[in-house]
Amino acid sequence: MSDLALFGGEPALREPVEMTWPLISDADVARVADAARRGEISYDASEGFVAELEGVFRARLGRPYALATSSGTAALHSAFFGLSLGRGDEVLAPTYTYLATVMPIVACNATPVLVDAEPDTGNIDLDDAERHVTPRTRAMVVTHLSGHPVDMERVVRFARRHGLKVVEDCSQAHGAASAGAEVGTRGDVAAFSLQGRKLVPAGEGGMLATSDTDVYERAVMLGHFAARSEQEVHTPRRVPFAKLGYGLNYRMHPLGAALALGQIERLDQHLDWRAATFAAYDELLRETPGFAPAPRQAHVTRHGGYSYQPLYDPAAWGGLPRSVFIEALRAEGVPATVPSSPPLHREAFFTHADTGIETFAVPQDRHLYRAGELPASEAYVASAWRLPAYPQPLSAEKLAGFAEAFRKVAAGADDLRRYGEIGAVR
Ligand SMILES: *Cc1c(COP(=O)(O)O)cnc(C)c1O
Repeated sequence: MSDLALFGGEPALREPVEMTWPLISDADVARVADAARRGEISYDASEGFVAELEGVFRARLGRPYALATSSGTAALHSAFFGLSLGRGDEVLAPTYTYLATVMPIVACNATPVLVDAEPDTGNIDLDDAERHVTPRTRAMVVTHLSGHPVDMERVVRFARRHGLKVVEDCSQAHGAASAGAEVGTRGDVAAFSLQGRKLVPAGEGGMLATSDTDVYERAVMLGHFAARSEQEVHTPRRVPFAKLGYGLNYRMHPLGAALALGQIERLDQHLDWRAATFAAYDELLRETPGFAPAPRQAHVTRHGGYSYQPLYDPAAWGGLPRSVFIEALRAEGVPATVPSSPPLHREAFFTHADTGIETFAVPQDRHLYRAGELPASEAYVASAWRLPAYPQPLSAEKLAGFAEAFRKVAAGADDLRRYGEIGAVR
């Protein structure tokens, strides 16, 4: 019998390796505290920390416009609204992504058309996207998932060929780059989440960036009225409506912006640290039988470090179920996990005719999805697993613990398989 912790042996990592994120500095705290003391807790116009944060994004992305929002979801809604998408318009979108990439398309009364995933990264599969283009397709949204950027040269070529606008959901990939171009620089509109788990955390917040004046003005008017829209909307036919706006308040909280300013200043440092963690994982997994490093495509010049996602291949483990593999790793003290959500086409909204809200994006020909319809995304979710994206490099001692855990689990494969079979009988 093996010495696996799952069967009562000593775990390879005796103490759990804590995950601390966000990394908040004393200067971050002081900036937020000072603003709170001064009562600097809301803005009407473009001013203060919010304006400053927008300036940092404009400069980093080389874009003439950046608009802070109350969330990444609000930034995505503003992006689709900014592109004037509406009833009858189809928008290609990845089926495997966070829900907020897609549901704001629905809020615009446009129709999301879900696209299958690449088998290695889970990112949108452009070959499959080709299959879904119709005369009504007007735009596509891509998510740079887990920090692994989509091949933007291919995306831009695809979009040009079909006359589509491109929205980049950069929420999991701040600072990542494909062929040397940072995410958010090549699409027509970029949206970022600044939620607390993301790489530029404000707590809650988002950012839209674009070079298109029309997109920007419409986005401003969707979520910003009076002082700010009067200040920034200049197209003559829109000016009379600037004061009232188009109905929502998507303003970012000044204290969130104050926090995010320090975070984006340290983004490159944080990306380098996570890259060190990921490189260490790569090496350990490459040298352990049955394991493989998280896939990385050749066009990636910088990974966003959001999540480390290798693929589990049951064939390399004699058919051992992924759940038992994960159970064994966790028993050794490795906080391995698996994706928690299915692809969107398996969610009720995309499989049920009655969404409960009649006025909400329910075109006559609404497509209802079946299991197995976008098979690569389902296979991806069934085989991906995750190691924690520790924000600071792991000590040699901790890495040795991880190495030992991987080695033990690999060596105990036969026992795990028997345990898995008994489990199946039980
Ligand atoms: C977090 C996230 C969002 C939404 O951001 P919120 O700020 O939580 O609204 C959108 N898309 C992706 C891919 C995300 O990871």
